[in-house]
Amino acid sequence: MNIINARLRGKTGLYRIQIDGQRIGAIVAQSAVIQATGVTDLDAGENLVTAPFVEPHIHLDAALTAGEPKWNMSGTLFEGIERWSERKALVTHEDTKTRARKTIDMLVDHGIQHVRTHVDVTDPSFAALKAMLEVREDTRHLIDLQIVAFPQEGIESFKNGRALMTEAVAMGADVVGGIPHFENTREQGESSVKFLMDLAERTGCLVDVHCDETDDPQSRFLEVLAEEARVREMGERVTASHTVAMGSYDNAYCYKLFRLLKRSKINFVSCPTESIHLQGRYDGYPKRRGLTRVAEIDRAGMNICFGQDSIVDPWYPLGNGNIVRILEAGLHICHMLGYEDLKRALDLITDNSARTLHLGERYGVEVGRPANLLILSAPDDYELIRSQGHALVSIREGNVIMQRSPARVERLLG
Ligand SMILES: [Zn+2]
Repeated sequence: MNIINARLRGKTGLYRIQIDGQRIGAIVAQSAVIQATGVTDLDAGENLVTAPFVEPHIHLDAALTAGEPKWNMSGTLFEGIERWSERKALVTHEDTKTRARKTIDMLVDHGIQHVRTHVDVTDPSFAALKAMLEVREDTRHLIDLQIVAFPQEGIESFKNGRALMTEAVAMGADVVGGIPHFENTREQGESSVKFLMDLAERTGCLVDVHCDETDDPQSRFLEVLAEEARVREMGERVTASHTVAMGSYDNAYCYKLFRLLKRSKINFVSCPTESIHLQGRYDGYPKRRGLTRVAEIDRAGMNICFGQDSIVDPWYPLGNGNIVRILEAGLHICHMLGYEDLKRALDLITDNSARTLHLGERYGVEVGRPANLLILSAPDDYELIRSQGHALVSIREGNVIMQRSPARVERLLG
């Protein structure tokens, strides 16, 4: 199969991408637009062809539960955790699998093929984890799924928290999680980070910590995580999610912190729609945005990407799987609508996210890599954002797994 008349990010002109079986066989420059021949050519129509979109931070085990049994009326993170704790009592194996599968379909519909999901393991029955381990196998033809052992109710402050985390990794979780700002004390927060880094180092797992997801400027577990990563030289395998307290740190502290963050080489995930919704809830005016310093982290040469976090769950009532919607909102919220940012905006949902997931050579539009590709509805990053565009075709290991027909508008006057 060939994709013809394709534009590629960072390159000028048109290209033909030859797919040999499950791999990209060749990428050849075209001197002009060419006509498709038969069924073996997919015409990109002079639009962008990219590697798949990546969802680096989602909670598939909680998705599609908003309002069950009660809605989050305050809109706060902490009421969300309370509501989830009630819903969690009703979680069954089939319930989790059904909701996760529906949500994965939504992600696939929007061109996502790599997903990192946090799964709550503060549950001695591991109902959600067992279900998600099966979902990971059942959906391999659609997505690569990384499962984070996520201690929603704490490692040190939840009964047998350490044992549950260790067991979750033994059962097959790919990534070790944490939630230090939610532990009962500063000391517990710090010891939870050391514990989870030890566990990851011992088992070879990646790390992704819900870190400082609060407007409290005194929540400073990011420095603990970064220093642990630096000393152990594990930074490229470690991710700090949210870090929204950084939006409230004063500049003097942040200046010092950035030096450590850069040396640590850790990755960052921001979930802009979730954070703008959950944070700033205890402020009058002026009201904080409650996001981490996305533009500043990016400008400093560190790796940051955007995630959806929730789809219709106790923390966030909206969402449809469309990561381009998150990107557009994030660029607005983070003051990143300058032309230089718009020109490379897709980095935040493609290459940067792939680096966070540590995908290495399993990702990218290069000869020899897996033929996992999207045909988008626009010729460049800027136009995709401006037109609120979509992935029109999603190809996985050489097979078309999703095709979208663009909406057609007929002007009846003028
Ligand atoms: Zn999260």
